[in-house]
Amino acid sequence: MTTATLTAAGLPPAWADGLLVCQQVHDVTADVRTFVLAPTEPRLFRHDPGQFLTLCLDIDGEPVERCYTLSSAPTRPDLATITVKRVPGGHVSNWLHDHLAPGGTVWARGPLGRFTINQHPAPKYLFLSAGSGVTPLMSMTRALYDLAHPVDVAFVHSARTFDDIIFRRELDFIAAASPNFRIRHVLDDHGEQLNARMLRSFAPDLAEREVFTCGPVGYMRAVREMLASEGFDMAHHHEESFAFETPVPAEPESVPNAGTGLVTGFKVQLARTGRTIECDADTPVLAAAAREGITLPASCAQGICGTCKTTLLSGSVDMRHAGGIRPREIANNKILLCCSTPREDLVIDV
Ligand SMILES: Cc1cc2nc3c(=O)[nH]c(=O)nc-3n(C[C@H](O)[C@H](O)[C@H](O)COP(=O)(O)OP(=O)(O)OC[C@H]3O[C@@H](n4cnc5c(N)ncnc54)[C@H](O)[C@@H]3O)c2cc1C
Repeated sequence: MTTATLTAAGLPPAWADGLLVCQQVHDVTADVRTFVLAPTEPRLFRHDPGQFLTLCLDIDGEPVERCYTLSSAPTRPDLATITVKRVPGGHVSNWLHDHLAPGGTVWARGPLGRFTINQHPAPKYLFLSAGSGVTPLMSMTRALYDLAHPVDVAFVHSARTFDDIIFRRELDFIAAASPNFRIRHVLDDHGEQLNARMLRSFAPDLAEREVFTCGPVGYMRAVREMLASEGFDMAHHHEESFAFETPVPAEPESVPNAGTGLVTGFKVQLARTGRTIECDADTPVLAAAAREGITLPASCAQGICGTCKTTLLSGSVDMRHAGGIRPREIANNKILLCCSTPREDLVIDV
């Protein structure tokens, strides 16, 4: 047994950014697999339930990055799991299904993300997911179950068919074993669709709950409309998109000392390439670069995934990220180009 927690000299440090070895692969449904990952040296996965890893792969000589939620719970920190649904025509999800096997390795960054109950402690939750959007909510459910937290969780998961329900048996088990946990499945092929009436009957105390939603863009839009139509206070609704199509609300974060922001039309010098571009105070640096035909490594464009992280060598920015960067990275002058607007002339390490 190589379990990290069993080392004699105390607990190993936290894992962050590095190589992971695939230990096991489980078929979850016909097109969903869970990959069990271990650090290459003694480390523990310390993360908030709901956070994700960004896998950085080289597929046929092309660098690609994709985010995958840790479906495992931080309460079992020796191993991490990601649960990946094949996307028809998808580059990375299919590569993982077809190539990542026990003994194989992947490089990953993280854990990162703000979509977590840890940021919003509450006595009652409503979890709403569809398809592979179940993964962050599963991590939260597993953590609450392991810790026997006395919080009340009502979980409604939507799937195409009974056989497509991800984690069905485990969720049923947790529901049977926990007095405060209820699960309701909504199945397309039963002619069902999540609606406000269903929510009201499953969680009549909806107004008292902190709501977490994850699923396809259309599903999340429908949930927002449903909650709004019920008069729900949307300050208590949190969502994460896997598809990067819905803007995620973000808090402004100034790096390092924000200026007054009164001037527009700043110069941004790309130190490595020797180019200088113009960028006004309302445009993220990534977008300004793209406008001038410069493609920089990026993925989500919403401050989530961390792909466009770079060092700010001089100047200051207003950064409205959504969890894709750590506080200590911000303290070290790292910025996400996709969600940083200049407050003065900048030099960046690009
Ligand atoms: C924070 C976060 C957490 C996530 N967690 C999970 C998770 O836990 N589990 C999970 O399964 N996913 C998760 N995702 C989604 C995941 O990151 C990937 O987006 C997903 O696996 C699809 O990636 P892919 O490379 O297979 O597809 P891509 O290659 O990116 O393709 C996506 C879509 O574009 C289409 N497409 C691709 N190329 C073309 C083309 N040339 N022309 C036309 N259409 C094209 C594909 O058919 C597909 O429909 C998460 C995403 C985020 C942002």
